[in-house]
Amino acid sequence: MTRARHATMPKDRDDEISSEQLTRVLQKAMLRSYPNPDRIGCRGTEVLREMAERKFPNEHPFWDKHVEHCSPCYRVFLDFRNEILARWGREERNQKRVRITAITAAIVVLLLVTGSIYLTAR
Ligand SMILES: [Zn+2]
Repeated sequence: MTRARHATMPKDRDDEISSEQLTRVLQKAMLRSYPNPDRIGCRGTEVLREMAERKFPNEHPFWDKHVEHCSPCYRVFLDFRNEILARWGREERNQKRVRITAITAAIVVLLLVTGSIYLTAR
């Protein structure tokens, strides 16, 4: 019985490529495809960090102009980007924690107030 039901369940999607996997494949390709040993056109790490801190890094003019076709710069950019995304994730979790704490505090205050009103009204 359980076996028959299991057979009709939708198949696991292991064979499908997730967007995360696709991103990783593209990243690997970009890291290999444009070796630039002489670092022609590179402008140092500062501009790469600046790009990584943007919400949409590929809207930065230096992206189209250079980083898109330069594996070493893309490597540095990716390191900055991962660092920044991790930081944003931490900040978001912290904000969520603060919000939950505030809501809990508000509920506690509300309960205390209604409790004391109830007690004094008796
Ligand atoms: Zn470069």
